[in-house]
This record gives sequence, structure tokens and C-alpha cells, in this order.
Amino acid sequence: VARKLSMESESESEKGGKVRSRIMVFVRLRPMNKKEKEGGSRCCVRIANCRDLYLTEFPNENDYLRLNRLRGRHFTFDAAFPDSASQQLVYSTSTSELVEGVLQGRNGSVFCYGATGAGKTYTMLGTVENPGVMVLAIKDVFRKIRQKSCDGNHVVHLSYLEVYNETVRDLLSPGRPLVLREDKQGIVAAGLTQYRAYSTDEVMALLQQGNQNRTTEPTRANETSSRSHAILQVVVEYRVRDAAMNIINRVGKLSLIDLAGSERALATDQRTLRSLEGANINRSLLALSSCINALVEGKKHVPYRNSKLTQLLKDSLGGTCNTVMIANISPSNLSFGETQNTVHWADRAKEIRLKVSDATEDQLSVPETETDQAKLVLELQKEN
Ligand code: ADP
Ligand code: MG
Repeated sequence: VARKLSMESESESEKGGKVRSRIMVFVRLRPMNKKEKEGGSRCCVRIANCRDLYLTEFPNENDYLRLNRLRGRHFTFDAAFPDSASQQLVYSTSTSELVEGVLQGRNGSVFCYGATGAGKTYTMLGTVENPGVMVLAIKDVFRKIRQKSCDGNHVVHLSYLEVYNETVRDLLSPGRPLVLREDKQGIVAAGLTQYRAYSTDEVMALLQQGNQNRTTEPTRANETSSRSHAILQVVVEYRVRDAAMNIINRVGKLSLIDLAGSERALATDQRTLRSLEGANINRSLLALSSCINALVEGKKHVPYRNSKLTQLLKDSLGGTCNTVMIANISPSNLSFGETQNTVHWADRAKEIRLKVSDATEDQLSVPETETDQAKLVLELQKEN
């Protein structure tokens, strides 16, 4: 009975937390590393105004010295993060809105993709000193729950799993592969650990440990595999009262996905995709490409069943889920081909429309976005 009073009403819980009608697409440039610098790399990417990206294969000496002049192919994204952007800025721009939605019973997902070494794991997991999106999101979930109620109405569960070579493994409790089953809620990994989390403090260690459990490739000892996908699921459950004062359960799920290295596997058209299928390329990543192509083209049939990854993400891609893509790129001209593929794919992902009944139409360059844009530029200036 005591709980009754502090429980939010349904209408209240519906406020805020925007529903988007398309995938939000961000690009993040990482700093040039030592090896690239020593190898005499030139920078082939320039980011301006936190949203414009210029890409050129042959930056000349002058461009290299005075990057502001770098022209080349121009792309625009919801935001483009220069190499100076902090983890916090990336999180608050890309993901904090999704966390708000999850606390209102909506699903959200964030994908990091890009070639091996482009900064996906740094963006998602980060380091102890500079925690990434996964940790910052969980922190935010707890902070927002504390603001909403202090009666234990919200329950948070974490699952961390890996898809490697079409095998699903529990990263929190390594052991036998997990079997995917279809139940009322959709596809579930049977026996997956659902770790009940009470605070942020325990989480970073848990995730670091989980990441250690990721499959490493025999040929690349001590390196986290470039062919493994890691998925962190943050599930928030709570109760609300509807208009008739009945108690109903709500569940919101946030999926944070560190994809396998995209080298050679990002296809933006069906023909390239088919030719790639013959090569020994990550099936789950190809299947994700196919699903995205189908969603972009507005096809009725989206081939989720083609891989373990897409089965697991069926309720996290398209549909009524808020989806964010973060494309990670290296600045070095030595990685130009991969960077170009990644940027093209990101450009294409902007076209995916989400079928959300109460969605507002989001377009790039609407005035509202420009205000957000100006804020973002200011934030970045403050950081530097
Ligand atoms: P990926 O997961 O895409 O293979 P990583 O995230 O492991 O790549 O990044 C490769 C290296 O670059 C790591 O040592 C990482 O710490 C570093 N790195 C990546 N992005 C950044 C960044 N934005 N700032 C600083 N270091 C970064
Ligand atoms: Mg990685």
C-alpha cells in the first residue's frame, strides 16, 4: 500500500523521451596513434561544426599542415565528433535520450561499427579513467531512477553476451554456448545471466571482466577478436498505474552493441553483399547489412533470421525501437579504404525509417536540430 503512493501514474511516465522516426547516425574520429604518426600518416578526415565531415584520399602537404583547408567528399551526420570529443560528450549527444526512453518502457539500441582499431570498444566500454557509453549509460540509468523514485520500484538487470562464429556465449558466466529460443517476448538466449545491478560501482569491473571473456582469435593472441560482437543489455522493469488505476508492468531495454570489425564486410548494395557472402566473412555482420538494406528500402520482409546477431537484435532494430549508430573511423590515410566504407555505410543508415506511430518526422537541418547543434559546438569548445 505504501508503494501505491509513490508509484508514478501512467500519463506522467509518458511525458518526454522523444520517439524518433529514423535512425540517428553519428561518426567519431579517433586520434592518430603512435604507429600511424611514425608511419608518416596523413590525416584524410576533417570535421567541421560537429556535423560536417570531409574525406579525401590524397591530402596534400598543405592540407596536412593546415587541416582547415581539407576539402574532399562532404557528408553530414546528426553529429560528427572530432578526435578531441570526450566520452561524456559522445554519450550525452548520442545515448542519453535513449536512456530516458528506456525508463519509459521503450527499447533503444546503440551500435558501434567500423574497422578493427577504429575505436569501437573505446567508445562502448572505454577505460577505467575514461569510461565509455556502456558505463555512462548505466550510471545515468541509476541517476535517473534515483530522481524518479526511491521506493525500489525500478529493477535493473544486466546481460552481456557475445556472438562469435554464429555461437552465442554469456560473457558474465562463460560456459557452454547459449541456445536461442523464441518465446512470447521474442527471441531469448536460454539461460543467459541476468545480473541484478544495484549501483554503478560494481558495473565497470563486471564489464571489464566480461570483455576479458570475449573470444580471441588464435592468430591474434591477446587481442580481443575482431570477429566477435559484444552486446550489453540493460533491462529496466517498473510498475505504473494506468488511467483505471490498475498496476501494469513496464519493461524498457537498452542494447549497447560493440560490433565485430567491419573490414571488407560493409556492403551498401545487394550485389556487393551477395559477392561477399561467398568469401569467409562474418555472417552476422553481413546479415546486419542485409537487414539494414531491407529497412532502408522499406521492404516488408526483413531477414532477421539469417544470423544469430540479427535474431538477437530483432526487437532492437527498426520497429518501435530508438536506434543510434556510431561509426568509428581512423584519421590516417593508411586506413582510407575502410574509412570510406564506414562513412558510406553511415550515410546510408541515415535513410532507415522507423515505423513508430507517434513519431515526429526528424530531418537533418530542421531548426531544432540546429539549436542542438550550436549547443554541441559550444560543449566541444568548452572541453578544449
Ligand atoms: P576497435 O574496438 O574498433 O577495434 P579500439 O576501441 O580497441 O578499436 O581502439 C584501438 C586503440 O585506439 C585502443 O588502444 C584505444 O584505446 C585507442 N582509442 C580509440 N579511440 C580513441 C579515442 N577516441 N581517444 C583515445 N584513444 C582511443
Ligand atoms: Mg574492439
